[in-house]
Amino acid sequence: MYDLVIIGGGPAGLTAGIYAGRAKLKTLVVAGTVPGGQIYLTYQVENYPGFPESITGPDLVERMVAQVKRFGAEIREETATKVDFSSKPYVVYVGEERIETRSVIIATGSTNRLLGLESEKRLMGRGVFVCATCDAALYQDLKVVAVGGGDSALQEALDITKFANEVVIVHRNAQFSASRYLVEEVGKNDKITTMMRYTVEEILGDKYVDGIKVKNRDTGEEQVIQTDGVLIAIGWIPNTGLFKGQLELTE
Ligand SMILES: Cc1cc2nc3c(=O)[nH]c(=O)nc-3n(C[C@H](O)[C@H](O)[C@H](O)COP(=O)(O)OP(=O)(O)OC[C@H]3O[C@@H](n4cnc5c(N)ncnc54)[C@H](O)[C@@H]3O)c2cc1C
Repeated sequence: MYDLVIIGGGPAGLTAGIYAGRAKLKTLVVAGTVPGGQIYLTYQVENYPGFPESITGPDLVERMVAQVKRFGAEIREETATKVDFSSKPYVVYVGEERIETRSVIIATGSTNRLLGLESEKRLMGRGVFVCATCDAALYQDLKVVAVGGGDSALQEALDITKFANEVVIVHRNAQFSASRYLVEEVGKNDKITTMMRYTVEEILGDKYVDGIKVKNRDTGEEQVIQTDGVLIAIGWIPNTGLFKGQLELTE
């Protein structure tokens, strides 16, 4: 029986693991297949206090994991598949295995929201991508369409211009929801053009992306834009599916 099971091994879960281990709680972190969560995908982390020269995401995660282990918490690189919070002790399942615990911390983070098109799924990793930090370098001297209008979309569009010749931001609303600073930076960048009030109807390409079909929300007119890549940056979905029926969830 554990005092604490932490579900999720991103920065939040690992931080909880450090505190719990240090408080001498018998602790297990069920970290998912790779510890580190989203920060593991980050090439350079420049805003983490204590690393003035910046640190790569994987290096930061390696240090976090070492710190968790130093204080005695166990880490399992597996996924929690079911929970039962109906009575104490709580039960967390990893496959068929039943793990009993007095308490649980949920730190399951979030996953990229997608458009939901069949073509998006088919061409994922073949020109469709969700992480500019990971994939922007593949678009050296090429053209990319970035879909979205929030901070992530604009920041990632700016990042892509370090490699690509041209970036077109396609956004369904008339205004960006990103911070004013990013909107100004996008406005100043000669490589970026914007298409406001357009929705994505289809991503085109047989083996690899070669275009995208968009529709003007005011006129209904459809248009095909030639492109080598499509970044989807339309937000995040919290990983709370596991807790449906066990905990009250909000929208
Ligand atoms: C490309 C990119 C670059 C970024 N750069 C920076 C940066 O430079 N500086 C910065 O401060 N922030 C940055 N961020 C944001 C930062 O990574 C996130 O804010 C942070 O990772 C959130 O931590 P978290 O632990 O809450 O969730 P996540 O990082 O989402 O971690 C949750 C973890 O839980 C796991 N999980 C989910 N369900 C289960 C389950 N059932 N069982 C077990 N495990 C499960 C997931 O697989 C994941 O590993 C970046 C994010 C991205 C995507």
